[in-house]
Amino acid sequence: MKITAIESFVLTVPTPKPMALNYAQQKLVVADISTDEGVTGLGYSLVFGGGGAEAVHAYLATRLAPALIGEDPLFVERLWERMFRTDMGMKKQGVAAYALSALDIGLWDIAGKVAGQPLYKLWGAVTDRIPAYGSGGWSKYSERELIAEAEKYAALGCKYYKMKIHHPDPRENAKRVAAVRRALGDRVRVMVDVNQRLDVLANIRQAQALEELDLVWYEEPVLADDIAACAEVARAIKIPVATGENNYTRFEFRELVERRAARVLMPDVCRANGFSETMRIGRHAAAHQIAVAPHVVHELSLQVVGALPNGFLVEFIDWTPPDLFEQMPECRDGCFRIPERPGHGMALARTAKEKYRSA
Ligand SMILES: [Mg+2]
Repeated sequence: MKITAIESFVLTVPTPKPMALNYAQQKLVVADISTDEGVTGLGYSLVFGGGGAEAVHAYLATRLAPALIGEDPLFVERLWERMFRTDMGMKKQGVAAYALSALDIGLWDIAGKVAGQPLYKLWGAVTDRIPAYGSGGWSKYSERELIAEAEKYAALGCKYYKMKIHHPDPRENAKRVAAVRRALGDRVRVMVDVNQRLDVLANIRQAQALEELDLVWYEEPVLADDIAACAEVARAIKIPVATGENNYTRFEFRELVERRAARVLMPDVCRANGFSETMRIGRHAAAHQIAVAPHVVHELSLQVVGALPNGFLVEFIDWTPPDLFEQMPECRDGCFRIPERPGHGMALARTAKEKYRSA
């Protein structure tokens, strides 16, 4: 089998309210991989909030896609290595990693379709049903909007809800978290996300203000570049630290593990160099009894969690319009059943490209 063409483009998709208060749109960099045997693979990277998507697309189209043309798509690991080593002066982090991820995801889609299996089964399935946490709780929400969103996810059976703690005053954040806890009661446990905004001391102070609230985790306390600081926070606070959505390779995750910087790792399949590298990260974490809860794109992350003994939760942000994908997995009783369709099981809706294409 040979790759004959890779068509790539950017989709710009508006988000619904109230998420639109913080992020008005999302962008997907899509790679449609064609082969001489008629099998096709859909790869895409969700660029959260959209910033830099056009740069991701440019790198994918001009540097990585050409390296795959004429190659056998079933040699996924070999092609991953080839892409990772393309332009050795450009580390596969940030823009370049999003581009590599989209293509790797498309290659695995082909591998699954050829095998006639969903990816989680190809990788050795652990479970076909994955619990999800409702996620959002953005900083611009009023307390009323915050509770309404948490209630919406709880009504879908989700037993966890994640919210941002972005207010400069730690007491204000604690107040918002307490309000959600009060409204939802024992039905739902809560996790909080700092999104890299604080330094070590500010995190210690913030976490102390939240200690009594029985939180599941305390996410991305410091700049993702500073793994030493993350480890310092993890040692100093009583809430388990989760991090990893802005770490890009198994080497960075190895350091997170070695420094004991987090109890939960959250690789993003669209950032951390695709399914290939995310599975390596997940298995490395398993060897250290560390849980994995991948960042966003739950429709893809389901395959990863379903194949890992240390898989924990997928992140459910309910933002996709019904005309983006053909069949979006549905949340029932707080869980997603992994699609049994071969590959990752996702396909763009018939009119999605026409409607949302921006580049
Ligand atoms: Mg986060």
